Amino acid sequence: MNETTSQTVAFQAEVSRLMHLMVHALYSHKEVFLRELISNASDALDKLRFATLKDPDLLGEDSELAIEVGFDRERKLLWVKDNGIGMSHEEICANLGTIARSGTAEFLGSLSGDAKKDAGLIGQFGVGFYSVFMVAEHVEVRSRRVDLPPEQGVCWSSSGEGSFTVTPENRVLRGTEVLLHLKGEEMEFADANRLTGLIHTYSDHIAFPVYLAGSEGREQVNKAQALWTRDKRHITAEEYIGFFKQLTHQLDDPLAYCHHRVEGRLSYSCLLYVPAHATLDLWRPDGSRGLKLYVQRVFVMEHTEVFLPHYLRFVCGVVDTADLALNVSREMLQASPEVDSMRRALTRYVLEMLDELASREGETYRLFWKEFGDIFKEGIAEDIVNRDRILRLLRWNTTKGEARSLDEIQKDMPFGQKKTYCLVAENREAALRSPHLEFFNDNGIEVILLTSPIDEWLIHALEGAVDKPFQEISKEGLDVEGLGDTQGQRQAREAQEAHGAELEQLAALFGDAVSGVRFGAHLVSAPSSLALASTSLSEALQEVLRASGQQLPDTACPILELNPGHPVVQRLLAETDQQRRADLAWVLLDEARLAQGRDLADISGFLVRLNRLLAQETPGRLA
Ligand code: ADP
Repeated sequence: MNETTSQTVAFQAEVSRLMHLMVHALYSHKEVFLRELISNASDALDKLRFATLKDPDLLGEDSELAIEVGFDRERKLLWVKDNGIGMSHEEICANLGTIARSGTAEFLGSLSGDAKKDAGLIGQFGVGFYSVFMVAEHVEVRSRRVDLPPEQGVCWSSSGEGSFTVTPENRVLRGTEVLLHLKGEEMEFADANRLTGLIHTYSDHIAFPVYLAGSEGREQVNKAQALWTRDKRHITAEEYIGFFKQLTHQLDDPLAYCHHRVEGRLSYSCLLYVPAHATLDLWRPDGSRGLKLYVQRVFVMEHTEVFLPHYLRFVCGVVDTADLALNVSREMLQASPEVDSMRRALTRYVLEMLDELASREGETYRLFWKEFGDIFKEGIAEDIVNRDRILRLLRWNTTKGEARSLDEIQKDMPFGQKKTYCLVAENREAALRSPHLEFFNDNGIEVILLTSPIDEWLIHALEGAVDKPFQEISKEGLDVEGLGDTQGQRQAREAQEAHGAELEQLAALFGDAVSGVRFGAHLVSAPSSLALASTSLSEALQEVLRASGQQLPDTACPILELNPGHPVVQRLLAETDQQRRADLAWVLLDEARLAQGRDLADISGFLVRLNRLLAQETPGRLA
């Protein structure tokens, strides 16, 4: 790149789109631009402080690391200045001209154009520097990297439409100054009270002093002490929430947070949050997540995953410790016994926080569960030490509600129930239509609906860990003995004895299509249903296992169950005409398949048989 003259460069297409969408979607959250600018300034100071560990001379005379927010009402100007690490010519072009984050294009594609909905999504994406164009008609950024001479300063300027201009500029001061030419209608921001209020809300806990410079002079506005180093008793909820927003760039309040300071064999502080929304990175396998690491107040590393187990990867926050070296690397973290102990403690803190939320704020816990439940479930396999605790925190979608704990389910069980019944289904609606459920619904017995593939995996993983073992009600060997209406059970037993031979004939007729035929005690209004062999896995789980390259066990054919009390079944048993009997039998099997939401392999055969039966139905009337 030519670094001696001014050049105009087009924004990456994604930047232009994001700016355009942001202006519309965040209309009512415009003030976030200030938070973003202060946050960038604070990061730049953090980076410089870290660099001075190796090279203390970098600071020179200008040794107080600080941020200045200033305004000039008459000239419609607002600025945010820092004496941090600064940017070179190349860096400024790359940082303020492109979005380096992977998945940006997909993200932009997922926005709907509906400002309200998009505001939430953009909040999760994190708005960043470009939010300045919500309030400014023109922006100049002047910067010099700490290790470059004054002649290598640079000025970036743009009105946010299509392109920006970069010009070399002599700059004695190190660091960065962002100067906003405010839009006429945004003059509310050129006001000392308004700015003081915003700095308090968003940036009180920034570890560097933030000065406000206006017509009345210059004064420090914030406390300039990292939030987690302060005494818990003097920190307000607003401060905790403000810090969260600064940290994650999200717009919504977190669902829960906790703050711990530990002095002893190890000394560390941590501030942990459960956000209301997953960040986009959470769903990407290569996405960045994990805590921000400080060593004795010095920022060392972003996104350190080692401090929490994988199933708690939705947690955001910071950890600050005196027990690691300032030059610690990611590899060293992996192998550190200190980190291991901290991970155990932090895991416990998160589980305690969730326990507390579940018992005190059920509604909020349900929000957590909806957003992160499927990730949290992985803990059952990953964290054997805390298994019982995790088990208590699991919530289940059941015939009685959408987020029931195992405790609640067991408490409501009728006397004598020995199993925890569950049913694999694609979604709640499909599950509630299943003929397998009728008996349970009629008898007020709660059934867990396993609607996500991980649920099915979960009940396998929990085998042996629960008092009343799970029983899949669409599988063979369903035992409802001693439960509910006993008449159906007696009827099924009697029918089994009386019609054993017929059932064998039917099984022979079906050949390979089923692995057996028998009477089902749990059928109420449906004439037939299919039971999966006890060893077989649902289609959904088979798919998951196949996708992850695992070997599938042999799946046996299902068993056809008939309802002995149903008139169609009674007709089948009484039927002497071979053709009609075969037609009825096949129609009952196909019906059971349909009720399960499966496709019929032979639709035309089904229709031929059905029509043949219908035509014979009432010959008297036809004549
Ligand atoms: P984010 O902060 O989420 O990375 P931004 O759009 O706010 O996204 O900023 C993009 C990049 O520009 C930052 O990551 C940083 O490298 C650089 N940057 C922004 N402001 C400053 C600043 N005041 N000093 C140094 N670098 C900065």
